[in-house]
Amino acid sequence: MRLLVPFYLSYAVLATALSPDVPEQAEPPADTCPPKNITALLTNAASHTTCPLPTGPSASRKPGAPWTHTPLCSTTSGAQTYCLFSSTPFGTNGLSLIAAPETASSLAPVLTQIHHSSLPSPSSARNLTLEPATAVRDFPGRGKGLVATRPIRGGETFLLDHASLVVGAGFFEDVGDAERAAMLGEAVDRLVEPAAVRGLDRAGGGGDVVGDVVRTNSFRSKLDVGNVFVLFPLISRVNHACKPNAFIRHASHGLIAGVAAFRDIMPGEEITISYIPLQQPTPSRQALLRKNWNFTCTCPLCTSPPSTLSANDALRRKLQGVEADAISAIRARDLPAAMDNLRVLEAGFVAEGLWPLLQDIYQVLATVCWAMGKREDAVGYLQRKLDMRDGYGRLEVGDRGLELGEEIGRLERPGR
Ligand SMILES: [Zn+2]
Repeated sequence: MRLLVPFYLSYAVLATALSPDVPEQAEPPADTCPPKNITALLTNAASHTTCPLPTGPSASRKPGAPWTHTPLCSTTSGAQTYCLFSSTPFGTNGLSLIAAPETASSLAPVLTQIHHSSLPSPSSARNLTLEPATAVRDFPGRGKGLVATRPIRGGETFLLDHASLVVGAGFFEDVGDAERAAMLGEAVDRLVEPAAVRGLDRAGGGGDVVGDVVRTNSFRSKLDVGNVFVLFPLISRVNHACKPNAFIRHASHGLIAGVAAFRDIMPGEEITISYIPLQQPTPSRQALLRKNWNFTCTCPLCTSPPSTLSANDALRRKLQGVEADAISAIRARDLPAAMDNLRVLEAGFVAEGLWPLLQDIYQVLATVCWAMGKREDAVGYLQRKLDMRDGYGRLEVGDRGLELGEEIGRLERPGR
């Protein structure tokens, strides 16, 4: 499974190391039935203690919008119940969700909101162009992939995709093999174009075709409704490279994603993203790719001359060491030393072009500055964090003033 948002430094470390004296604030009472708008949904999980579930394992008729099919629920005894919910109008291929009924209930207003939203438009998505830019090609020995069919500018979001499958993280462990395969098969059959999912590359060779497709191609994502696997059929065609020319921009709700260019891409060039965290040296990268996707990477970085590769690995190992030193310094509350290490990391990531990793570095720098009483510096790092998030992670164009205020609020109330 791919990581939707690769986390670098551990915020848990910061939470325990920098805010031990801040009293926990009680959660506000959950007083919302399924939220009325997406902002509310993203900030307050819906309460199901006071609101009835619109659907459930005993549902015997078609549920209300946005779901278009009768739920199909698991019967594995002693395990969490998972139900299949489907919504044909979502995107161009429809959406099938396999999750607890509570998850479907919480996600319903998001789907409705997406249906009425202008998000996949050039005015609401970051640097989006709607002119087709890619085509699927066969790459001998590597399955299918995407190539550019026109010049693509650095920073451009040139491909958009809606999720076709969303599967609760525990489904693969909680539900028995036969029932799991049947539910996944039905989930795909309910899509507008089942072949768009069934035809994707598979890392394994087992009989559970759809399960293998989901395991090979999904992003692991932490949505407001919990941890899920999300499959985007078009984006699944993008192959891996350890120094890729493209990256993913995700909508906040996690159900729409775009592919954007790190740099200018020429027609005929293969589009690549990284399936794994960017900063790892060659042995770690190859081990992860073999374990999760069953291939040995032959990307331009991995096949570069031994002297180039070993220099690159030495730099990445050095950065890993600096990261460990930064975490140790934070744990010891030696904040000046932590600042020094974090600035070395920042410079290393800039030199290596590892831009997406800077978002986490700036968050940690802001938190450390705040803890040192350097509030102006902290706000400056928060601005840079949002710059990196917007440039290298998020699809929507947001309200910067409002978002910066929320970020500062989180520094004032750590642990929230
Ligand atoms: Zn590689």
